[in-house]
Amino acid sequence: MEIAIIAHDGKKTEMVQFLMDFKALIIAKNIQLISTGTTGKHAEKAGLKVSKYLSGPYGGDAQIASRVAEGKTDMVFFFRDPLGMHPHEPDIAMLMRLCDVHDVPLATNPATAELLIKAL
Ligand code: PGA
Repeated sequence: MEIAIIAHDGKKTEMVQFLMDFKALIIAKNIQLISTGTTGKHAEKAGLKVSKYLSGPYGGDAQIASRVAEGKTDMVFFFRDPLGMHPHEPDIAMLMRLCDVHDVPLATNPATAELLIKAL
């Protein structure tokens, strides 16, 4: 089971809290985490193992979108900041679109991510 984690800057604290809350489950279920660059650094600081891709604005979301298209990523937790402006908006839209194309569960906020991870 591979889960991608991505959090915009305004949501990184919530992502770290989420990961801490479910750290034991992530380890117990042997979930492989992948992430955009800066989100991954935060996850590592929280004590989790994560494969990091490029930072979002430099193509990280696009790299993760490509894994979704290839069927390698099973679930995406993408804590978006609806109040922020993002230079890589086209990549964000692409990732979300590809999740829908390939029927990959996508949580865009912690409440939904919690429901998904508890279902594993
Ligand atoms: P980051 O990218 O984890 O490198 O900050 C997230 C994003 O902005 O999509």
